[in-house]
This record gives sequence, structure tokens and C-alpha cells, in this order.
Amino acid sequence: MTFDQEIFDLIQEEYNRQHMGLELIASENFTSEQVMRAMGNIMTNKYAEGYPGKRYYGGCEVVDKSEQLAIDRAKHIFNVAFANVQPHSGAQANAALMLAILKPGDKILGLDLSMGGHLTHGSPVNFSGKLYESHFYSVKKEDGLVDYDMMEAQAHEHKPKLIICGASAYSRDWDYPRIRAIADAVGAFVLCDMSHPAGLIAKGHLRSPFEYCHFVTSTTHKTLRGPRGGIILMKHDFENTLGILDPKGNLKMMSDLINLAVFPGTQGGPLEHVIAAKAVAFHEIMQDEFMIYTTQILANAKAMERAFQAKNYDIVSGGTDNHLLLIDLRNKNVTGKKAENALVKADITLNKNMVPYDDKSPFVTSGIRVGVPALTTRGLKENHMEQIVDWIDTIITDVDNEQKALSVKSEINEFMRGFELYKNWQV
Ligand SMILES: *Cc1c(COP(=O)(O)O)cnc(C)c1O
Repeated sequence: MTFDQEIFDLIQEEYNRQHMGLELIASENFTSEQVMRAMGNIMTNKYAEGYPGKRYYGGCEVVDKSEQLAIDRAKHIFNVAFANVQPHSGAQANAALMLAILKPGDKILGLDLSMGGHLTHGSPVNFSGKLYESHFYSVKKEDGLVDYDMMEAQAHEHKPKLIICGASAYSRDWDYPRIRAIADAVGAFVLCDMSHPAGLIAKGHLRSPFEYCHFVTSTTHKTLRGPRGGIILMKHDFENTLGILDPKGNLKMMSDLINLAVFPGTQGGPLEHVIAAKAVAFHEIMQDEFMIYTTQILANAKAMERAFQAKNYDIVSGGTDNHLLLIDLRNKNVTGKKAENALVKADITLNKNMVPYDDKSPFVTSGIRVGVPALTTRGLKENHMEQIVDWIDTIITDVDNEQKALSVKSEINEFMRGFELYKNWQV
């Protein structure tokens, strides 16, 4: 076979970009070499529809063991009774969970996308908003914190079957007992989508959703630092309350409904190579080094919060409890779009983001979202955060100055050269 030089040249080009730039996208991370080794190998060749011990294909003895390891490790990390490690992504995890417990037309209640929520929490352009009748709660205008009174009022008005908490651009922790109380009062289930802060929850830095939320979904590639993928977890398995019976006439367990909703409900064959890589990531999360990593994430986020505040940036909710900051740029007279475009010229990657009560469109936005998990993996510490905010501020306060962007870029490239990306990298 002729070697595909074109694609492997592009992979090397992407490697150089990742190595030399400042990666501040809050949902990104640099997974380990052993995670990538587990992902990029012969496990991709195997069909394994079904679950360990109950497959629709022969020859699954080995992948049964690796998928079971992934399941057992996920259960251990989060101290839960149930884990499904097959969802191909966070969106797939949410799709399967909703398929398991909802019927088309059922009502759901989630955080509005423009307030920091996720597409899969009911957005009209997403399956969740097309298949289900979606309603939303917001964050409060005055302090940027989740408006639990509004969540409660919406819950009582609409009687949703599912209340979703968790977000993509929210820098504060959640009041899970309150959410559960609201749900119990109207007979709703609670789903926590911990895609963003899962790694911080795993190590106990943030409140645990598991005792209060019937279901928890997550990506595995954000703060969990694993391969791109999703998981579904439950602290306690329980008989479904939807009246769905098994062939013997007993109520099916929720775990069975969720497993069926992943396969055959929304997916075919699982990505056993990615599941092996999830197992490796979970192994890493169980080590003491991961606690050092997550502790450093929090320290870096706080250092960045202080540095932005010192330069009079308007941080939504006034600061951060987790790994990200949402910054309203309106007092700097720059849009999110303009800032993102100027920063990328200096090899600083982050994303423009709607801020609560934004007066601009999602394509323009008034804000940026800044996250530290990826740079923390690269080995950057608190003092570096100040330097980074200096660079960002240099660009944002002179947003049309391409010359300045180029000079910041060369400083950044020189700086990042000093932080190894992968020791044994080869395309
Ligand atoms: C990132 C994210 C997802 C989706 O994950 P994908 O793997 O991109 O599908 C779902 N929910 C939340 C809250 C997220 O932040």
C-alpha cells in the first residue's frame, strides 16, 4: 500500500501547532502517550455489539476483559454501582440516557445554551430540542449564578420528566440537594452532565452529584484527560418507574434500560480501542499524580482569575470554583469573535462564548471562555498564568494590531518550546 504522506504530514503539522501554541480551550486536554497507544491499535478491528459476556459476535473474549476493566475502574473512581463506557461521545451519552427514560414529546428542563448550557440539554437545533419539549432555566443577571428559584418555578409550571444540570460554560459548583428537592416535588428524574468538571469531581475538589442525581453522564476527554468519548453512570441501580417490564413480568432495572438505549438504541458496535484507552485513562485517574494534576488545575484557574481581575476584566459570576473562566469583554469594547480571531494569530487558542444576557449573536458573542486543564497538563504553574493574561491583554487592548500579535506569537512559541508535549512522539 502506498503511504499516505498527505495525511501524516498534516498530523505532524497539527502536532507542531499543539506543541507551540497556548491551548486555553476549556474542553480540551492533552491525553497521555499510553492512552493514545491504547487507542491506536488492533482493538479497532473488533466488532463487539453487546456487552461483556453477552455479545452478538464471536472472538470477544479479550475485549470483554478490557471493557470490563474500563467499567470496573469507572465504578471505582466515582464509587458508583453502574457504568456504561460505550457512548462514542458526550452527546451520544446524553442521547442514550434520554432515549432510556423519555418518550418523544416528553418535557425536559435544562440550563439555556446561551447561559452556559449544552446543545444536548434541549437546544432547538439538537435532537434534545427536536424530540423532547424543552424548557430552560437561566443564571441570574445580577450575580451570574444558576437561578434555582427559576428552575423550581419552571419545574412546577411545566412538570418535566427530566431536569438536567451541568454546563459547558459555568465556573461555579452546583447545589445538587436543591435540584433533587425540586425534581422530587414534581416527580422528575435528575441528570447531571458533568462533562466539564468530571476530573475535579473524581478527585473530590467539587461537590459530588452522585447521591442526588439519578443519572450522571460525562465526556472522557475533558478534565478526565482520556480519549474522546462518553460514559453513563449511576450511583444506585433501581427498578424503572416507567412501567417497562422484562419477559418475566418484572420491572426492568434502570441499568438494563440504559444499556439497551446505548446499544442497540443509539449505537452499533462499540469502539473497543477507545474503550481500552478509557480504561487506561481511568487507571491514570486512580494514581496520586492525578490528584496533583487536579489540584494544580484549581491553583492555575485561581491564579488566572486574580490576574484577569487585576487588569479589570469582568469575570461572569465574579470568579471560578473550577477549571474555567467566562469573561465578559463588553467593558473592553471587543467582541468575542474579534478577540478569538486576534488571539489565534498569536497562537493563543480559546473560544468566543455567549455571556449571560448577551446582546450579540452566537457567531459574534460578547465573551470568551478560558480554561486551564490543557496547559496544566503541559506543566504550567500559577506564575505562568500571569504571563498568559499579560499576553491576552496585550492582544485584546490592541485588537487590530497584527504586528503586535505576531510579536506575542513568537514569544509564545519560544516559551512553549520549553514545555514538552510528548516524549516519544512519532507520526
Ligand atoms: C462537551 C460537552 C458535551 C458533549 O460532548 P461531545 O463529546 O462533544 O459530544 C455534553 N455536555 C456537556 C455539558 C459538554 O460540555
